[in-house]
Amino acid sequence: MERSIETKCLHLEETEGSTANYGAISYPIYQTATYAHEGVGKSTGYDYSRLQNPTREHLEKVVASLENGTDGFAFSSGMAAISLLMELFKPGDHIIADSDLYGGSIRLFRNISEKNGIRFSNIDCYRENIENFITPETKAVYIETPTNPMMHVTDIAKVAEITKNSGIILIVDNTFMSPYFQNPLDLGADIVVHSGTKFLGGHNDTLAGFLVTKNPEIAEKLRFLIKTTGAGLAPFDSWLILRGIKTLGIRMEKSQENALKIAEWLKLQKSVTSVIYPGLLEHSGHEIMKKQARGFGAMLTFSVKNKAFAFSILEKVRMIKFAESLGGVETLITYPTTQTHADVPQEIREKNGITDSILRLSVGIENSDDLIYELEKVFRETERELNGGEES
Ligand SMILES: *Cc1c(COP(=O)(O)O)cnc(C)c1O
Repeated sequence: MERSIETKCLHLEETEGSTANYGAISYPIYQTATYAHEGVGKSTGYDYSRLQNPTREHLEKVVASLENGTDGFAFSSGMAAISLLMELFKPGDHIIADSDLYGGSIRLFRNISEKNGIRFSNIDCYRENIENFITPETKAVYIETPTNPMMHVTDIAKVAEITKNSGIILIVDNTFMSPYFQNPLDLGADIVVHSGTKFLGGHNDTLAGFLVTKNPEIAEKLRFLIKTTGAGLAPFDSWLILRGIKTLGIRMEKSQENALKIAEWLKLQKSVTSVIYPGLLEHSGHEIMKKQARGFGAMLTFSVKNKAFAFSILEKVRMIKFAESLGGVETLITYPTTQTHADVPQEIREKNGITDSILRLSVGIENSDDLIYELEKVFRETERELNGGEES
C-alpha cells in the first residue's frame, strides 16, 4: 500500500528496521566539514561536507519522498536553490515565467539571470496559451500555483502536456502548497522548487531551499552544480528542517482550517473589498485546485478600502505579526507592496493587481477564535478612527 503523506513526514521507508546511529530516533547532526580516509583510494563515501553530509542527505531523501521524486537537493535558502537552478541554462536560452511570482524570483531573473544572457517572457500562465510564447530558444516554463500574492491557479497537468510536447521542462515552485497538499511531479512537472523556510521548516526560525526531480539527467546536472557552487544546507539547519517536517501534516491541516474561517470572516467585513482564497467556492481556481491538490493551503490575500486602512491594520496588530515570510506556526500579515514585492517595478506590480491596499495573511496554528478576535478589534478601531466614530 502506498503510504500516506503524514506517515512519510515521519518515516523514511529505506531506513526502516535499521538501528544504525545507535537506534537514535532523531537523525543525528553530523557537524563535520570533512571525513577521514582509511587509506589511499579509500573513502567512507563521504569526503567533504560541501559534497556530501549525512544529515543533509537524510533531509534530501525525506523531501524527495514527500514530492514523489527520486532526487532532492537542500540549499541554504529558497533563493540559493533557484539561483542554482538558473545554472541549468546558458546565454540565449529563453524561459517563460509567470508574471505573478515571489518577488525575490522576479528580482533574480531580471537582475542576474538576464545579465547572464537568459531571456524571459512574463505571462499570466493561468490564463494565457503558453504555446504561443514558445520559441526555438525556449527551454523551460517556470510557475507558482497558487501565485504569490494574487493566488492565481494554473492547471499544472495542462501546462506539463504543453512542455512535454515541446521538449522543454516545467519548473513549479510549490512553496505555497507544500508537498502535503500538492505534488507537481505527479502532474508532469520536471523540477519542484521549495523555500524550505516556509511550510517545510514551519517555525519561522530557519532558512532553507529545495529542488526535487525524478529525471536522472537533471539530477546529475544539479548534483554537479551544488558541489561546485557550494550552497548546500548546513547540518544543523538540515536537522531543524527535518524536525519541522515531522509535524507538517497537522500544521497544514490546522492552518488551512484557520485560513478558511478567517476568509469567511473577512468576506463579511464592509471595509474589505475582496478576499482571495482558493478554498472559497467563488475563487476562479477552486475547481482546478480540487483536481490537482489535496487542499487549499493557508495563504490568503485581501484588499481593504484604501491604503490608510491597510496601514492602520499593520500598525495595530499585536498577536498577529506584521512581518514578511509565511508558512510558520505563527500568523503573519504582510504588505506585499513594500515587503515581498518591493523590488518589482511599480508598473508590473500594478498590472498584477498588487495595489497599496492589498494585504497577505499567512495563517498559523493559533486558535481561530483568538485570531478573529484580534482582527475584529483591529478592524473596529480602524473604522472608528478613519470614519470619525461612525461604523462602516
Ligand atoms: C520565500 C519564497 C522563496 C524564497 O525562499 P527563501 O528561503 O526566502 O530564500 C521562493 N519562492 C516562494 C514562493 C517563496 O515564498
